[in-house]
Amino acid sequence: MDDGERLKKIREEIAERTRIIVEAFCQRTLLASEIASLKMKLNLPIDDYHVEKNLAKQTREICSKYGINPDKGLRLLNLLISESIALQKSAQEPPSTPTTIFEESKRLEEQGSKVIHLEVGEPDFGPPQRVVDATIKALNEGRTHYTSKYGLPELRRAIADKMSERWGASIKPNEILVTPGGRAALTLALSATLKQGDSAIIIEPAWPAYRVSVESLGCRARVVHTKLEEEWEPDVNEIEELIDETTKIVILNSPNNPTGKVLSRRTIESIIEIVTKHNLTILSDEAYTEFSYKDRYSILPEDCDKIVIGTFSKAWGMTGFRLGYLITSSERCAAIAELAGELYTCVPEPIQWAGVAALGCFDKVDTYVAEMKKRCELVTSLLKPLSIEFKEPDGAFYIFFKLKNGMSGEEFVEHMFKKHLVALTPGSGFGNYSQFVRLSFCRPEEELREGVARMRGML
Ligand code: PMP
Repeated sequence: MDDGERLKKIREEIAERTRIIVEAFCQRTLLASEIASLKMKLNLPIDDYHVEKNLAKQTREICSKYGINPDKGLRLLNLLISESIALQKSAQEPPSTPTTIFEESKRLEEQGSKVIHLEVGEPDFGPPQRVVDATIKALNEGRTHYTSKYGLPELRRAIADKMSERWGASIKPNEILVTPGGRAALTLALSATLKQGDSAIIIEPAWPAYRVSVESLGCRARVVHTKLEEEWEPDVNEIEELIDETTKIVILNSPNNPTGKVLSRRTIESIIEIVTKHNLTILSDEAYTEFSYKDRYSILPEDCDKIVIGTFSKAWGMTGFRLGYLITSSERCAAIAELAGELYTCVPEPIQWAGVAALGCFDKVDTYVAEMKKRCELVTSLLKPLSIEFKEPDGAFYIFFKLKNGMSGEEFVEHMFKKHLVALTPGSGFGNYSQFVRLSFCRPEEELREGVARMRGML
């Protein structure tokens, strides 16, 4: 057989293999939809890692039989599982997230209603005056051009210096990428680190953006479910059990949205140990790190492979400026900047000058944090006599409470919104926490008192 004939024959064989794969995929999809309706009926969770582990074992064995790197087979398996999960999810109502509730309340307000906003994580303070002045000055001076895709050198230098000083780390400007908010930093970091079929570990309850971003990249979000009864402490062994050849990232968020949990140094050290052992990256979302009412912690000084996400939204009350950053190795920073440049060119220049000014206003941050701590104590004391359960937050500006009145979080939130114009977020937006509700204490004292007073009748 000459080479031309051999090529033709192989092509025919590939066509036949592809036909078998697609047919098997269709049969698998039919079975997966049956599982979806059975799980709904039996009220079983969508994820079942025990079943996945057995499939992974079988996949490894097949790969080794053919001398194929198991990573390839396991990534294909993740894609198949993601398909099944998407099928199961499409059979359910999508959970309400802070963003969806916020959009709904905005609509009501446009019609003239006055809503008490206990749903959104947006401090009511607004930016320090020096930040506003710096923005106007930048506009007046014509600082309105494209900047480097990495961000202004002045801003990167200021972030590097300030974060090195605050955390006893040694950060260089070329390890920093300025982004349009922490959310974009997260999406970019994941897009540059994960490829289709990879997996990332998330500790829930968690900000919904982690799961959405991971899944939108065609990757598996593997979840460690923490419990109120265990004070939201993750089981480090469980993290290790979820790691396989496809796992690339472990996402940490301390202080946590929605629980306010600050991970202990011991827990973080154990996680770093595991992550280093398995050659993974820690993505540490430190959006709330200034709002730590007990111990403040950053992963910045740790010697491990890391991407740290920061934002100006929370500590400086600059949500609408859309300014954030990420800190990682200079090589990874360059790879992520490449993607950032192609996606949105750069962050608007005047906004970056606002960031430089913000880093000179840590005195204001201290005032904001002290005010949030006061509100935290107030809301905690107002909620304590009610028939709910929660762990007092160590940081951030949320209380994640468990209902004891038999209602689901969704029902409670809907009732409070429709009948009492109090906007809250149901726990189902943060993972498998249907009995929970998140209350954000970003509003002034009188509003917080009024919001809780309206809830009292139901609790
Ligand atoms: N991380 C967490 C945990 C958050 O809750 C948020 C905002 N809600 C962010 C990051 C990002 O905020 P932004 O995009 O406004 O910087």
